[in-house]
Amino acid sequence: MTSADTSADVIVIGAGLSGLETALTLEENGLRVTVLEGRRRIGGRLYSLFELPGQPEVGGNTVSRAYGRVLAAAARHGVEFLNVAPRYAAYPDRQELFIGGEHISAERWPDHPRNPFTGAARALPPSAWGRTLLRRHRPFKDVENWHDDKHVAFDVSVHEFLRAQGATDAQIALGYETNMPYGTDSAHDVSILQLAFVDHWQTINQRNTNAADTFTGVVRGGNQNLPIAMAGRLRGDLLQGKAVTAIELAERSVEVHCGDGSRHRAKALVCSMPFPVLRHVAIDPLPPPAQRRAIHLLGAKPITQFHLLPKRAFWEDDGLSPAMWSDGISGSILANRDLENPARVTTLTVWCSAGTARYLDRFPVAEAGRMVIADIERLRPAARGALQVAAAHSWERDPFAGGTWAIFGPGQVNEFVRNMSSPHGRLFFCGEHTAIASRGMEAALESAERASLEVLAAL
Ligand SMILES: Cc1cc2nc3c(=O)[nH]c(=O)nc-3n(C[C@H](O)[C@H](O)[C@H](O)COP(=O)(O)OP(=O)(O)OC[C@H]3O[C@@H](n4cnc5c(N)ncnc54)[C@H](O)[C@@H]3O)c2cc1C
Repeated sequence: MTSADTSADVIVIGAGLSGLETALTLEENGLRVTVLEGRRRIGGRLYSLFELPGQPEVGGNTVSRAYGRVLAAAARHGVEFLNVAPRYAAYPDRQELFIGGEHISAERWPDHPRNPFTGAARALPPSAWGRTLLRRHRPFKDVENWHDDKHVAFDVSVHEFLRAQGATDAQIALGYETNMPYGTDSAHDVSILQLAFVDHWQTINQRNTNAADTFTGVVRGGNQNLPIAMAGRLRGDLLQGKAVTAIELAERSVEVHCGDGSRHRAKALVCSMPFPVLRHVAIDPLPPPAQRRAIHLLGAKPITQFHLLPKRAFWEDDGLSPAMWSDGISGSILANRDLENPARVTTLTVWCSAGTARYLDRFPVAEAGRMVIADIERLRPAARGALQVAAAHSWERDPFAGGTWAIFGPGQVNEFVRNMSSPHGRLFFCGEHTAIASRGMEAALESAERASLEVLAAL
């Protein structure tokens, strides 16, 4: 190693929640930290469209009361969380169901010939079917310990689990794989252990002794304001446009190479890169085989979003809700409302998941946007000429994300969770994928706690 462009005690890769929280904790403990961020934007998977009305979110949307670390971080950094639960209660924006190109009202759905479900499940919207079945037949009890060895027998695919409960392929296709919540392509590629834990986490977050106490938090002005405020508290450098391409580890130092030719040296390195991105970075020496397999194989859910500006309130013309859920390419559509004046719909977010996202990603983005609008106009003629794409984002194609959140395939909870975030010499790992007790934004901060302690113990 000769001279380097920066030298600090610790380099942190990534200015998302987990990297920033790690950097701040290490600085509070007296270390000099440099943060290297590949994008020219702070926040990673927190990404608010500040220029659009209502500042819609491309990344992380909401938090609940169990997000103790996120709420505490916001209070520490002077960022205000607003409770949008009363707004959701006043304007529930129920999703209109469109299947096979046909609008099916909630009243007609239970007896509709396209409804593949049986018994009481026929009355549920398809999006609620999988979760309801999972809650009725919880595979195991202590779901907080989803990663424990004793649950290895449940590290099977969601498809296998649903089939064991008597579900048919047609039910799984509509009730789980359409606008799929967890999985990369189908119910075959996600472990029921992960899904059971996610559901447990969501249940904790929806727990309410008193409905008036419900809390659904969003940051005033956009969730990205939280990482921006955190970055503002850093004492050391935060260098943007530094796409890390190689990591060299020595016994007591690390050297990081970036795509712009710069090199950065420190005593330790914390990496928050999601594994689908990290797998393209050269690491010398290679991590041990088990960790390497996790880096190379851990999945991430594809989502491609289109943010639509309505030129007029077409939902008032056809008398339906602005929100919709279909088995076509326009996927699941949610309405965003103005925080001050919730009667006003500001934008519509089209969430295309898994196979639908991958299909649309094959087209130039303008073409994909036109296809999505054409699909909505076909389903809802009142929408003709009323929509315009204001922004689009493919999380899977995003070179700094590779997907939205980690997906553990069948067998991977048992194989990966134990080893995947262990320190590799002076290389440490944080990021939502490495957390075990929480999900989403809270998981990012949980992982930062562990990684910070590991670094402090090592230096
Ligand atoms: C569409 C969507 C919806 C979501 N909804 C919610 C929700 O409602 N609630 C919730 O709690 N969570 C939600 N999440 C998840 C939440 O946003 C993430 O879990 C969290 O923001 C992840 O933080 P992180 O620090 O682990 O990763 P990231 O934010 O991804 O940070 C990693 C950083 O590393 C940088 N990086 C990557 N590669 C390189 C490289 N080669 N060189 C340098 N830098 C690099 C990235 O640019 C990024 O800034 C959602 C996420 C998405 C995408």
